[in-house]
Amino acid sequence: MPPEPTSLFLSAERASALAAWRSPEEDVVSLHLDVDAAGAYPSALCRLLREAKTAQPRLRALARDVERLEAFVRGEFSPAGRRGLCAVSCVKRGLFEAFSLPEPLKPSLTISDRPAVRPLESLGARYRRFLVLLADERRARFVEMHLGEATEVETHDGGELTSDPAALARRAAALAAARGADRLVLGASAERLAAFTAALPADLRGELISEPLLGPDRPLEAVAERGRHNERESLKLREAVLVRRFMEELKNGGAVAGLEAVAAALQQGCVKRVFVREGWAKMGRRCPACRRLSLDHRSCPWCFRVTEHVFDVVAELVDRAVEAGVEVDPVALHPDFDGVGRIGAELSTPAARRKETPTGRALRALFALKSGRTSPLRPRSQPE
Ligand SMILES: [Zn+2]
Repeated sequence: MPPEPTSLFLSAERASALAAWRSPEEDVVSLHLDVDAAGAYPSALCRLLREAKTAQPRLRALARDVERLEAFVRGEFSPAGRRGLCAVSCVKRGLFEAFSLPEPLKPSLTISDRPAVRPLESLGARYRRFLVLLADERRARFVEMHLGEATEVETHDGGELTSDPAALARRAAALAAARGADRLVLGASAERLAAFTAALPADLRGELISEPLLGPDRPLEAVAERGRHNERESLKLREAVLVRRFMEELKNGGAVAGLEAVAAALQQGCVKRVFVREGWAKMGRRCPACRRLSLDHRSCPWCFRVTEHVFDVVAELVDRAVEAGVEVDPVALHPDFDGVGRIGAELSTPAARRKETPTGRALRALFALKSGRTSPLRPRSQPE
């Protein structure tokens, strides 16, 4: 993979190359950073590095990677409207990649034999990839947009692509397929749009978004801003469809709602998608032995250990979902979603097969002595 330290754009090709990249040793350092509008992220990086150096002694051997990451964040990265940053370094094998994200990322510095890109995959499921074509009688220009970033793809001045709508449609279809674009955006006059649409393959015609105000001479940042607007509209629509389906599934047993039900379903690995009210945080408890989360169980209902305090149990739950490769959808609108508990999960297996939190009576029955008193023994292994 050629190093392109200045490009923060995540193409489909780069995303899959990065996800498949493996080192024979544990020498890949991944940095995730929450980029705040107030510009406090460099001091957050300082804190993160300090903590990581104490907690992970192996980092000492990877000082060159830490320096590279630090130099990038302080010297090359520009926060402009970005909310998250993911950078990966393996100096020894010539790998350095950085991507920006339109949503905040939980800050972390990890060492592994592979880049830590799970949060990217989780976001990638929600954010579409747009191929933007800006065309007039002189010029045809292609721009790609994904995760709020835009990049120039190619520009044609004159020639067949500006004179023949069918040739332009063929080129657009080929580029959309090669770059994995989900939607096509066309910035052109009404006549040009009509001729182009008629020449487009049927499957792409349904995915076309018209942007008559965008032309081939607009600066990349203006195209990107319009793209971000389209993205927000597309996410709003998606949220409406998904939340409506979730509410229906909740009635039919295909979904669960509430923190403890979602935690239990995640633990059992039967969650397809998690919905959570944007910005919601809540204190809770975690079992140090089996890691199960609850709102207020002082002793673990599954393995009887004394649980510990968790500052934000919602964030902890979301992290686990992301780590498990489950898509997480923040819910910004839909007040009726709060009525069912502000968090919910669509299940991959039917609700009937899930195990509920054991009740006190059920536990007494499991561990009762002949006399009827509760057994003083802890179960040897946690019941699954
Ligand atoms: Zn437990």
